[in-house]
Amino acid sequence: MFYAVISDVHSNLKALESVLKDLKNRNIQDIYFSGDAVGYGPEPNECIDLLRAECKVLLAGNHDWGVAGLTDIDFFNKNAGTAIEWTKKVISEENIEILRTFPVRFELKKEDITFVHSTPYEPEQWHYLQKFSDAEINFQYFETKLCFIGHSHRPVIIERSPSGEFIANINIMSIKPDNRYIINVGSVGQPRDGDPRASYAIIDKERVEIVRVSYDIEATQKKMSQAGLPLPLIQRLSFGM
Ligand code: ZN
Repeated sequence: MFYAVISDVHSNLKALESVLKDLKNRNIQDIYFSGDAVGYGPEPNECIDLLRAECKVLLAGNHDWGVAGLTDIDFFNKNAGTAIEWTKKVISEENIEILRTFPVRFELKKEDITFVHSTPYEPEQWHYLQKFSDAEINFQYFETKLCFIGHSHRPVIIERSPSGEFIANINIMSIKPDNRYIINVGSVGQPRDGDPRASYAIIDKERVEIVRVSYDIEATQKKMSQAGLPLPLIQRLSFGM
């Protein structure tokens, strides 16, 4: 049974639609969302509606909490903060209430999976997991075999053996019976690993794969310009940085 995990859509409807189309072509229906529906991009309401229609579980990210007034705007850099203020002006009251209901952590015990947006350790503090030493700490803060994260917008699969050895891979990895995994699925709406294509993960019992999907970047950039969103946020989509 295949399922997919997507994250960091950031109001980029064109990217989200392309990923969902790719999933339809692969006949994958079970989709989990690891947070940051909004922020940065031009279509927050449309993205929340579509995510709610298509995903089985929806988590909150720091930008969702920023828009919902649960994370202080000072947490964000200038352009991110500007985009959050813009989002607050165009988002519906109903969608703000919906963002407030998204959890920051979710476990599927039967499937042996944990979802968070940032890190299993203090998920509401929005830490980043960047090094093996960060991973080592975080493996102690969830009990399931797999833990899916987003937040950094850089996909990576981290494997830990029972004796504490780490391996990382950015494309594909087989799932071994005794090992545990932290999987950053990358970002649908604003990749930052130098590849501008949308990123997400598909998983079955034996392996996890990071998938990249092209989308109409210029269409999103045009909508961002029309909305008056900050130029650096528009330009970075072309480079995936
Ligand atoms: Zn994000």
